[in-house]
Amino acid sequence: MEHLMSTPTVRPPAERFTGDVYLNLLEAPAEPARLAVGLVRFTPGARTNWHSHANGQTLCITDGVGLVGTRDGDVVRVSAGETVKCPAGEEHWHGATDTTLMAHIAIVVGDGNGDGTTWLEPVSDEQYAAALSGTGGTGN
Ligand code: MN
Repeated sequence: MEHLMSTPTVRPPAERFTGDVYLNLLEAPAEPARLAVGLVRFTPGARTNWHSHANGQTLCITDGVGLVGTRDGDVVRVSAGETVKCPAGEEHWHGATDTTLMAHIAIVVGDGNGDGTTWLEPVSDEQYAAALSGTGGTGN
């Protein structure tokens, strides 16, 4: 077995996130396996850009309280112990609330060319405020 006492914490690319986010990459896609797993920690106010995953994504919330939103305006408030499954190709975002940290394990299966994530534009302050208030907005 391989027993890792710790894994490096890095800052993911700033052009894909708003705010302060920390990533521990636990599994990178490597042929023939295409599994990618990361522990992602979002500080208050931090969130991903809009994005989608070629083969979907499973998010296991491990700490704090956060939000997951989709283009139709649906926003779910998530807490430690909960799991969210994002279907293949669905544009969405995830992050902390404005007053809480949120950490999740993110699990994807790559498409044979990286982890299969398509990154889009940032979640605007207006979209984020709507998500926080529970009104969701249109996502556009
Ligand atoms: Mn995602």
